Amino acid sequence: MALVGAALKLLLLLWLKLNALTFCQGKSSHNRWENDYPFIKAASSFSSSSSSSSSSSGREKTYDYIIVGGGTAGCPLATTLSQNYSVLLVERGDVPFGNLNVSHLNNFHISLVDTSRTSAAQTFISTDGVFNSRGRVLGGGTAINAGFYTRASTRYVRNVGWDAKLVNESYRWIEKQIVHRPNLAPWQMAVRDSLLEVGVSPFNGFTYDHLYGTKVGGTIFDKFGHRHTAAELLASANPEKLNVLIHATVQKIVFDTIGKKPKALGVIFKDEHGNKHTAFLSKRRGSEIIVSCGAIGSPQMLLLSGIGPKAELRKLNISVVLDNVFVGKGMADNPLNSVFIPTDGPVEQSLIQIVGVTKMGVYIEASSGFGQSKDSIRCNHGIVSAEQRLHSVASQQEELQQMEIKLRAQIIVGSENMEMQSSFDAQIKEHANANVKLQGYWFLRAERDRNDGGGMTDDLG
Ligand SMILES: Cc1cc2nc3c(=O)[nH]c(=O)nc-3n(C[C@H](O)[C@H](O)[C@H](O)COP(=O)(O)OP(=O)(O)OC[C@H]3O[C@@H](n4cnc5c(N)ncnc54)[C@H](O)[C@@H]3O)c2cc1C
Repeated sequence: MALVGAALKLLLLLWLKLNALTFCQGKSSHNRWENDYPFIKAASSFSSSSSSSSSSSGREKTYDYIIVGGGTAGCPLATTLSQNYSVLLVERGDVPFGNLNVSHLNNFHISLVDTSRTSAAQTFISTDGVFNSRGRVLGGGTAINAGFYTRASTRYVRNVGWDAKLVNESYRWIEKQIVHRPNLAPWQMAVRDSLLEVGVSPFNGFTYDHLYGTKVGGTIFDKFGHRHTAAELLASANPEKLNVLIHATVQKIVFDTIGKKPKALGVIFKDEHGNKHTAFLSKRRGSEIIVSCGAIGSPQMLLLSGIGPKAELRKLNISVVLDNVFVGKGMADNPLNSVFIPTDGPVEQSLIQIVGVTKMGVYIEASSGFGQSKDSIRCNHGIVSAEQRLHSVASQQEELQQMEIKLRAQIIVGSENMEMQSSFDAQIKEHANANVKLQGYWFLRAERDRNDGGGMTDDLG
């Protein structure tokens, strides 16, 4: 009898263990983004779903809100609006989920210089010759940036006329989902001590608040160095009311121009196969198309849709919907200056964790190291690299003049990458007459505090 009892116990244990295993496997397959975000679909699926509903019901599916651009602003906006309204979010890029260049902190630099068509980062050079990048992926800039998070100054919120209570609630909503307290890297500790030594004080410790002095801010990288992007905020959306299309490049907003004022009707977008589709707003009073394509993409979208300076639109054969002289104007470059300092020791990689916020209206921030995870692309280190900087500068005199601008300063010391080593050494020798082995780099920059000057955004760039 005791034997039968023991056998039964064993069977029960085995059964429990097998069940636990099956549950774990099920859970891991549920981790795939399609399961977590069932409302995200490829753009090409749009016409089949909407045309099938239109042929059966005689009507096309329409939306209370169409949001163009699923980036830093677009994702949380779509999530919030979906609680009460039907929303279509249209993004030209892919999802960031499972993309190692996006998700690993140590791929930050190579992600920025991946110029392939499927890259999450789109490199561009301004008309004045300044290199920069913009996001081309769900999550937008949060999928390619340095991940530093801070709140705006109370003065900034007041000046732009936002509801301070709502702003504070929104901060907390974001922070609990994708923001982390950083583990300070050695270089960041050195930056903290240096800032305090030169008088960027007091030390405000770890805080999200915008305070004068030196502080540890938030980061969207967790303790494992994994990035959390604005796309993850979509997990809080109402799945019944939200549709997200990826690989959907909006070409223009369509307007009804018959009445006194032009009225937005919908958007025309191209899918991943190059086919065109039109998505329409519902007839609900207050339905809107919201343009959140970023600082370059948003004015571009308005211009393509016929909103902008009349003369310029006509020159480009774009029918004028609304003459507005300000669209596409007032843009400023985000310039970068670099200084290379040789080192013979490796430097641990860190992105922005410490900032100095000065009363002169300047942010000072720094990063260190140059990594690349084994299972990712290998390429020239591009716009932020030493070799690029040394090639692109016509003369040291010009470099010195750029330095005078003092908007940004970058200190770069070498690279871990052995392929770069010899070209690095040669160029450094040529330019700085140094005979050194380079292994790591530091990066330091200062920029105007946009909280102070009433700029466009409340974050660090
Ligand atoms: C290298 C780098 C480092 C940075 N570091 C930081 C930092 O540490 N901290 C910080 O706060 N900020 C940082 N920034 C700035 C920050 O990332 C941006 O200010 C922010 O992402 C802008 O948000 P957005 O919503 O306006 O635009 P984006 O986040 O760029 O979103 C725009 C979205 O619109 C999509 N889009 C554009 N055109 C179309 C179209 N025609 N059809 C469909 N979709 C379209 C794009 O693909 C993109 O996803 C950094 C920026 C860069 C480039």
